[in-house]
This record gives sequence, C-alpha cells and structure tokens, in this order.
Amino acid sequence: MREAVIQVSELTRTFGDKAALASVSFGVKRGEVHGLVGANGAGKTTLIKHILGLLRAERGSIRVFGLDPVADPVAVLSRLGYLSEENELPNWMRVDELIRYSRAFYPRWDDAYAEELRDTFGLDPKARIGKLSKGQKARAGLLIALAYRPELLVLDEPSSGLDPIVRRDILAAVLRTIASEGRTVLFSSHLLDEVEQVADHVTMLSQGSLTLSAQLAVIKKAYRWVTVRFQEPRTQPPTIAEVLRWEQQGQEWIALARGDVEQLTSALAGQKGRVICERLPSLDEVFVAHEELSRAVREFRALEKNE
Ligand code: ATP
Repeated sequence: MREAVIQVSELTRTFGDKAALASVSFGVKRGEVHGLVGANGAGKTTLIKHILGLLRAERGSIRVFGLDPVADPVAVLSRLGYLSEENELPNWMRVDELIRYSRAFYPRWDDAYAEELRDTFGLDPKARIGKLSKGQKARAGLLIALAYRPELLVLDEPSSGLDPIVRRDILAAVLRTIASEGRTVLFSSHLLDEVEQVADHVTMLSQGSLTLSAQLAVIKKAYRWVTVRFQEPRTQPPTIAEVLRWEQQGQEWIALARGDVEQLTSALAGQKGRVICERLPSLDEVFVAHEELSRAVREFRALEKNE
C-alpha cells in the first residue's frame, strides 16, 4: 500500500449557513496525479486552503505528510509547492531576479531544472514580471512552484491562467515527470477533458459533498453508455438502480449505467428491454451525471424537510 501524502477525514467547513465542505473524506497517495474536480463553488479552493493550513478544520481532520498543517506549517509548507489562480508575483522584478530571489527560500532549489523550465516556458530572463502577459505570469509561477522539486505540488486551477500550448503540451508532461519521480500532484480543475488526460485518481465535489473518489482507470471501467431497445415503445424510461441518467433517442433509450453489466442486463430484461450497443463515457459525462444525481438528491431532501 502506498503511503497517503494527504488524508482528509470527515472534513467539514461552513460559511454562515453554507456548507462549503460537508464531511469530506479521501486520500491522496504518494506518486499520484490527483485531479480535484467540481463546478464553481463546489469547495475545491476551501479544501486546498485546509491543505495549506490557511483554514483550520471546523470538524474532522486533515493531515499532510501525516502532520496537521495548522499546527506544523513550516514542516508542511517546506515540502509543498503551491500555485494558485491569483498567483501574486512581484511586478517590479525581472524573471532572472525572481528566480534568484525564490531560490534563497529553498535549500533544495534546482538551478539546472529552473533554467530548463525557463527555457521550455520561453521566458526572457530580462523581462519585467509586470510586463508579462497573464499566461507568461502563470508560466513564471509554475516555474517557481516546480524548481525546488517539492514532494507535493498543489495547483489550484492551473489551467485557467495558462495558454492552450502550455496546457496541452507542457503541463501534462511536467505532471507526469513529477509523478514518475515518486512525487505527488494535487490539482483542481473544472476542465474535465484535461483531468482525464493527466490524472491517475479523480475526486469529485458537488456543493461541498464528495460524490466520487476513485482511480481514473476504475471510473472508466465502471461506467458505460448503453443503447436500449424495448419491446414496446416507451414514453418514460424505467427506474433501474444502475442507471444514472436516461436520454431518449427516437425509438430507443440511451442509459448511462454503472456497475455490473449482468445486473443491468437482467434488470432491463425484466422491463422487456435489451442492450443493442454500448460505448464508454467521457469523464465529463460521468461528472455531469453525478452532478444531476446530487442535485436531485438535494432537491428531494429539501422537499422532505418542508413536508
Ligand atoms: P471555483 O471553481 O469557483 O473557484 P471552488 O470549488 O473553489 O469554486 P470554493 O471557493 O471553495 O469553491 O467555495 C465553496 C463555497 O464556499 C462557495 O459557495 C463560496 O461562496 C463559499 N465560500 C468560500 N470562501 C468563503 C468565505 N471566505 N466566506 C464566505 N463564503 C465562502
């Protein structure tokens, strides 16, 4: 069993009467590229703030390298690299000055790697940070977060500031290299196709609740779209536990199903339906189905409360 670099246990955080995190539990293992996904306001940044020790667990706990990041900030932060969407860099410095300034903080700073990244990112050493474009600033921030080779790299929406070339060609390669060296990456994103390309493990949040946390390979095997033909045309789909979502297409119904194929086939047979073809869904489709399911559960609970 690989060691958990981050362990989140029943973590709860409320802002007023809003639950930003509602009893969230999951782990991030060493050497993993872990994607944290969720719609706007799902709780991703709040969770990352707990990892960085910027917020104290209201209920439940969070451990990073086995330590409490609030009680032991130096021990945690010295092993962790962080890049956020609103990455604040000193505008008055030049790129080479920023690199020299940053290396002073980190005993494990790797000069050769910093230079390699600067070259890969196409950053002019003499350029003033304040004069860089948003995308170039994001590249400079990523360089600083990477060059001291932290054991754990935490990226909050790294793609939002990065241009498509860095996103597509560089970020994925950088993240894979980190993982192959036995270091760990946790990155939040709402770009599901990108997460699908680079993550080993995916954790989904929906309005503060965890809806799914599993290896990407397991998720990909566990779900499928099946096209179902019923003996008699139907105006409504049947209720089948394995089906997350139904869509009507002409005479047929298409179901996004999870779990055992045999169970699904026999449940469909009971409804005089049979599978005529199937395909694997994208991570985005799995995410949307879970979002809809969570919304339906929330609406149902609200109705129950009001009765
Ligand atoms: P986004 O993708 O939009 O950045 P997110 O998944 O990172 O969203 P959070 O920023 O963690 O979501 O916010 C979760 C919820 O908590 C939101 O409803 C947000 O409005 C609320 N929230 C976060 N920080 C605070 C705060 N300091 N005060 C009040 N509410 C907050």
